[in-house]
Amino acid sequence: MPRTLYGIGASPGVVVGRILVLRRHTRRAGWYHLPPQQVDLEVARFRQAAAMAEDELVRLRSQFAAELADSMSIIDSHILMIHDRMILDCSIEIITEQKINAEWALAQALLRIKKKFDRIADPYIKARYNDIKYVADRVFGLLSGRETDELTAAGEQVIVVAHDFSPEEAIRMRSENILGFITEKGGVTSHTAIVARSLGIPAVVGIEHITMDCASGDTVILDGISGRVYLDPTPDQRSRFLENEKRQRASSEELDFYTYLDSETVDGYRVRLAANIEMLDELDSVLRYGGEGIGLFRSEFDYFSRGGEPDEEVLLATYRQLLETLAPMPVTIRTLDVGGDKFSKYVHADGACYDYERNPAMGLRSIRFSLREPALFKTQVRAMLRASVYGHLRILLPMISSLEEVRRVKEIMDGVRHELTRDHVPFDSRVEIGIMIEVPSTVIMADTLAAEVDFFSIGTNDLIQYSLAIDRGNEYVAHMYEPLHPAVLRMIRQTVDAGHANGIEVALCGEMAGEAMTAAVLLGLGLDELSMRPPAIPHVKRLLRNSCSRQLAELGEQVLQCRDGHEVREFLASYLPWFYPQEFGEP
Ligand code: PEP
Ligand code: MG
Repeated sequence: MPRTLYGIGASPGVVVGRILVLRRHTRRAGWYHLPPQQVDLEVARFRQAAAMAEDELVRLRSQFAAELADSMSIIDSHILMIHDRMILDCSIEIITEQKINAEWALAQALLRIKKKFDRIADPYIKARYNDIKYVADRVFGLLSGRETDELTAAGEQVIVVAHDFSPEEAIRMRSENILGFITEKGGVTSHTAIVARSLGIPAVVGIEHITMDCASGDTVILDGISGRVYLDPTPDQRSRFLENEKRQRASSEELDFYTYLDSETVDGYRVRLAANIEMLDELDSVLRYGGEGIGLFRSEFDYFSRGGEPDEEVLLATYRQLLETLAPMPVTIRTLDVGGDKFSKYVHADGACYDYERNPAMGLRSIRFSLREPALFKTQVRAMLRASVYGHLRILLPMISSLEEVRRVKEIMDGVRHELTRDHVPFDSRVEIGIMIEVPSTVIMADTLAAEVDFFSIGTNDLIQYSLAIDRGNEYVAHMYEPLHPAVLRMIRQTVDAGHANGIEVALCGEMAGEAMTAAVLLGLGLDELSMRPPAIPHVKRLLRNSCSRQLAELGEQVLQCRDGHEVREFLASYLPWFYPQEFGEP
């Protein structure tokens, strides 16, 4: 019977195929005592399995080096984890002290680690236990000679369904020609999802009990964008899917052509289409897809990839490379945005860390953290200002919720400018300072705040979470996370109006800027810049170039009249195909 299941779209792409359900039961470790003379041999057997697991990962790493540029660090961290004291030394200790077999010792070591992680409230850190488990599972498979290769065994092109997959399994799916995957566990920020996105494997995560709700051989349509899964699709759903697929294939060839065209409507109304990136490796794709600068550089990576606070020179090198590569295009670098679901347990170089927060999304996050750690913040600001001489820099402050915060940041920045001037260190005095509009209070106060800053950038990922009270990482309420909620659309319009009335630019850099349907609406709401993942840029450019400014303005007005998200979607479903048949099908 046809059924639609709702999960979280973790990696875009729509595929149809037969399902292969992998029901993996927790591996059971047999237990046996070792005679004393065999203990050393057992330790050697364990070390050999660990070395083999490492070899496999190293091989995988080099085989997919090019495609995995963005997520190489995940594989690197798994390679390091094999040698982690908690896994390696602890298992060896158990083997030697208790004189028991390696499988059992590894299972015990994992149990101890799990107990430690269970005590951690922070969801980001807690999720890292999965990585340790993936690594331990690999070693376990090699030890017990049961390195299950269900993925290879699949034989034909299938969509695989399981409780969870490791990032390495996602990589192997690429070489096994697996069409896509669906899991019960996971969120968009899980490492497996990140790898799937890097490799272009469509995926939906977070569908509870899916391994029980379907069987191998069932047909399914997986939509990695909306997070929907159609089990036993109706002939109508299937034919719509096939049509859509044909259109997408034809349009992706045509899209290359848009890369080099201006971002403007037929009557010359311009909207800057910029890129959101997190790492320098992504700079190539900004240029490849015709990005007109960077609308959001998430600067967290330098703080977490090296296991300690980066010094000013490290940050300067990153920012300089960004600015030099893209000059004279604008590069918007956001100051550190820790907390919430991102790296919330920030650990200082001396090992100290903040206590558990009951509600991290509303806690010591983003700019609040920077203001509480002024030395760390000053280092980042110094690096940014020093880099400013290499291109067109805009500094963006995340999660501002009051005028007071803007003023405190400006004071710190003035202090840094003063020091640099005193020390004869060059910097560009015209660097623009902007704030993210992510909290409803800043929308309401946008007219006041606009007088204090040079630009706004609306962060809808958070604005939706804070205004609709929907935790952006919670699978139970994911279906209520509605970017087209009229409350969200009205807040965007209010911000645009307040910005323009004060003569400043208003950008938007949430995920909705890169999805065709929501991007069309945003073009109609009068934003000056949309910033998105680089591959989405040509799609949005095509929408823009096939529009005229009056029609966009009318679209904006129409959606603002709707009473709920459902009405907005219904209106768009009837309106958009008339203007954009390539994106939304013939009317
Ligand atoms: C946002 O909140 O929309 C945004 C772009 O920031 P992030 O996703 O990094 O929180
Ligand atoms: Mg945000």
